[in-house]
Amino acid sequence: MEKELIKFKDFLKESRKVVITSHRNPDGDAIGSSLAVYHLLKDLGKEVSVITPNDYASFLKWLPGCESIIEHESDSDLAIKKTQESDLIIMLDFNQLYRTGDYSEIIKKSDAKKILIDHHQEPDLSIADIIFSNPKCCSTAQLLFEIIEGIDMKERVTKDIAECLYVGILTDTGSFKYPSVNENTHLAISFLIKKGAEHSKIHDLIFDNFSSDRIQLLGYCLNKKLRLYPDKKSAIISLNDKELKRFNFKKGDTEGIVNYPLSIGGIFFSVFIVEKDGIVKLSLRSKGDIDVNKFARKYFNGGGHINAAGGMSKSSVEETIKKVEEVISLETI
Ligand code: 5GP
Ligand code: MN
Repeated sequence: MEKELIKFKDFLKESRKVVITSHRNPDGDAIGSSLAVYHLLKDLGKEVSVITPNDYASFLKWLPGCESIIEHESDSDLAIKKTQESDLIIMLDFNQLYRTGDYSEIIKKSDAKKILIDHHQEPDLSIADIIFSNPKCCSTAQLLFEIIEGIDMKERVTKDIAECLYVGILTDTGSFKYPSVNENTHLAISFLIKKGAEHSKIHDLIFDNFSSDRIQLLGYCLNKKLRLYPDKKSAIISLNDKELKRFNFKKGDTEGIVNYPLSIGGIFFSVFIVEKDGIVKLSLRSKGDIDVNKFARKYFNGGGHINAAGGMSKSSVEETIKKVEEVISLETI
């Protein structure tokens, strides 16, 4: 990483107008990492814009700096203008440009220098001038923390930066429980708490601040929509547009539902299928060494990590359930 760190420092010195972006439907890691870089570079006197391809979950809309985020989908003129003006684009938490949706075309057209910081497998090496990629790393926020350390800027970590990084690591590790967590994760967290991250407040804001609709939707999924395949150690939950409307769906309301079947003893593979605005999305999760990234790539035009991946389906929810059932019967789980 030494060469990249030197280049990174040079790019930072040379740049004046910086755009920070992440993947479509940005999660806690994408938003937390983006805002951490935002504060760090603003404090260095840069003109910084955080651009997300589209909207994100409301449980993240308290993060320091989030009011300045520009969404390409709803504010494309401003997003395009800022991107065209920028001399440096920092891309976070994705491995392929298509993950930024329509905004990818704007990034492609830009002459700005590009830096990618990511922890997904098999990154497209052609999309940036400097690539920090570590698929073993639990989160982009953790990798970013290590980069900040590597460029000797650890002491520039303010309370705001600490809380943004904390959220990234927290949400991408299932609250510090995934196998990707190691002693470096806890060392980073220790440092972030020392710098003022209020961990208990953050847990409340992220996990104990849901609408009653969201909790009732979860109850409905567990009570009425859970399909179990004990012989194949697998489970499927699905929701269609109509069901989402019934529970006044808001962005982020289905996040985490896929994890619940894994709380059942003997279930090691869980799939959540959701139809939103006519698009069928899949979330795959596993425990142990079942590689869901492989399934997502092979069957659902997607990808991710060993224990957490996502993909898409061009078929209806019902047909997608059948396809997943086929995968479950074909593959060794
Ligand atoms: P989620 O199920 O929370 O949407 O995504 C789980 C993981 O899989 C995340 O790390 C996410 O970046 C990745 N992922 C989700 N959807 C896709 C997709 O369509 N393509 C790829 N390559 N990765 C995805
Ligand atoms: Mn991530």
